[in-house]
Amino acid sequence: MLNDFISLIYPKNCASCGNGLFKHEECLCTFCRYHLPKTNFHLQNGNPVEKLFWGRADIVSAAAYYAFGKGGKVQHLIHQLKYNGKKEIGLTVGKLYGLELKQSGKYESIDMIIPVPLHERKKKKRGYNQSEYFAEGLSKSLHVSTDTSTLIRANESETQTKKSRFSRWQNVESIFHIAEPEKLTKKHILLVDDVVTTGSTLEACALTLLKIPDVKVSIATIAFANN
Ligand SMILES: [Zn+2]
Repeated sequence: MLNDFISLIYPKNCASCGNGLFKHEECLCTFCRYHLPKTNFHLQNGNPVEKLFWGRADIVSAAAYYAFGKGGKVQHLIHQLKYNGKKEIGLTVGKLYGLELKQSGKYESIDMIIPVPLHERKKKKRGYNQSEYFAEGLSKSLHVSTDTSTLIRANESETQTKKSRFSRWQNVESIFHIAEPEKLTKKHILLVDDVVTTGSTLEACALTLLKIPDVKVSIATIAFANN
């Protein structure tokens, strides 16, 4: 109750630490902007996110902006983005990360950004797909457009807990399809999501995209959860 009261008086707080924001600060305070745990994976070939996909999908480059720690500020940030309606976090973080990716030169050949589609039911409940906002922020800094209509999530995957890894993969892979493959032919696609953990959803999306002739896929996420 006290927190609700405080947020009424000070409506603009840092999405990560909760401290009040200065007028010039957008979504994240200056301290968090500099001190959230960055992975700098985009500067490292064969980084842990890239390794996740070795032998699973042919990915050009992969990286995650922050390291996700249980109970930490990054977890709080992601929670606010996904469950608290704070869509602007995706936009802000995307813009910041886009600038760093651009500086590294490694993502120069990207032609199109595609966010991982959400289950229709989840999107309705939440009202938005958080990854679309991250994609939008990246798009602003990388000057590359975003496509949210070509990669489609077909249906909900069944309960996966009792399945083997192989059947889980089959199951997850069959839920994505491409609406108009010709739109993506010969493109280098940056596939984006909020958090990468096991990489199975990103893998399924990537394998679907890689069926299109001469397509290349890279990956960027807000956070990497090492479990
Ligand atoms: Zn902060």
